[in-house]
Amino acid sequence: MMGYGFDPKLSEQSLKAPIFHTSTYVFNKAQDGKHFFEGITGKRPGGGMDGLVYARFNNPNQEILEDRLALWEDADDALVFSSGMTAIALLLLSFARPNDVIVMSGPLYAATESVIMKILPQFGVQHIDFPASAERDVIDATIAKAKQMAADKGGKVAMIYLESPGNPTNALVDVQAVRAAADAAFDGGDVPPIAIDNTFLGPLWSKPQAHGADLSIYSLTKYVGGHSDLVAGGITGKQALIDQIRPMRNTLGGICDANTAWMLMRSLETLELRMTRAGENAKAVCEFLRDHPKVESVGYLGFLPEGSRQRDIYDRHELGAGSTFSLYLKGGEKEAFAFLDALKIAKLAVSLGGTETLASAPAAMTHLSVPEERRQQLKITDNLVRISIGIEAADDLIADFANALDAV
Ligand SMILES: *Cc1c(COP(=O)(O)O)cnc(C)c1O
Repeated sequence: MMGYGFDPKLSEQSLKAPIFHTSTYVFNKAQDGKHFFEGITGKRPGGGMDGLVYARFNNPNQEILEDRLALWEDADDALVFSSGMTAIALLLLSFARPNDVIVMSGPLYAATESVIMKILPQFGVQHIDFPASAERDVIDATIAKAKQMAADKGGKVAMIYLESPGNPTNALVDVQAVRAAADAAFDGGDVPPIAIDNTFLGPLWSKPQAHGADLSIYSLTKYVGGHSDLVAGGITGKQALIDQIRPMRNTLGGICDANTAWMLMRSLETLELRMTRAGENAKAVCEFLRDHPKVESVGYLGFLPEGSRQRDIYDRHELGAGSTFSLYLKGGEKEAFAFLDALKIAKLAVSLGGTETLASAPAAMTHLSVPEERRQQLKITDNLVRISIGIEAADDLIADFANALDAV
């Protein structure tokens, strides 16, 4: 994460990559310009981005960042975007056409649900979902139904789109089972790409491409950026699929700018250290919270009961329990708000994956627009506090939570 993809000789022996604030690049010869554009427009078979052309297509900081990001999951290639939602929207636009069906796990990040359930239907794209915790038979049945829906309208199953763990329930998706179900359902034919939003546990604690996913999606705003000071997104995965998304980014825009890419390169150097520390802190904090008399339960992946299906998925897929979890207090909104208002070290804010601990009340904030019935289904109750643990000293965090619980 420090040296890969950057040659100081090309930048005045600078140890660190400079920030390339330029909108365009000078071609040595007219023939070079033609060659680059043949690559960008797909006129040259196997062509790609083999030179710097114009900053909507590429810039050196973004290219180094993509090379480094791809390493975390041993992916062929990566693309970075101006936000996680830009990545998700351009991904779906690259693969879905009118009459196609998107198969999704539910719940998804709220804005992703808006794209699939509200925006894409205006372009004739259909969708069908299965619950994140679904077993193989339910996944099989959902894909079979999706094939029928697509056939009825002369479309195809465009993509299988997953998110694991689901927010805020932390329900894990069995990616291996989805892979097997997709391969069986499209036996011999074109298996639709399996994409998964890996923001919550990736890239350190979850590597879904090792379990059958074709593409991993990241809101780099969260753990990867990690300092709550930028917004960006990324996709890593198979070359043939990345090559289908890149032209959409070239045309519509949405590439990560040079300054943000530079900040992300800095962030990647400490990603493993930050996530490891946050994970250790979360374990200590959750162990404290679990036994507290004012706490109803703690939805932390490290506490999945032995022998349960979720634990089985966890053991097969994940390398760590993360640092974002759900805290259910005894009581309702009054108790949740009293707790949040009494926190001193942890900050009352939405988002996650930063160096500082954040806490919020999903029912009153991020999920306020979700209909009451669906909120109950997803266990987004008034007594739920969502917490993302940072890299502070664990003892300070435990003292902060102890004080806040006393105030409830
Ligand atoms: C934040 C988030 C997104 C959206 O990313 P932005 O960078 O805010 O656009 C998508 N998925 C998940 C799981 C997220 O937490």
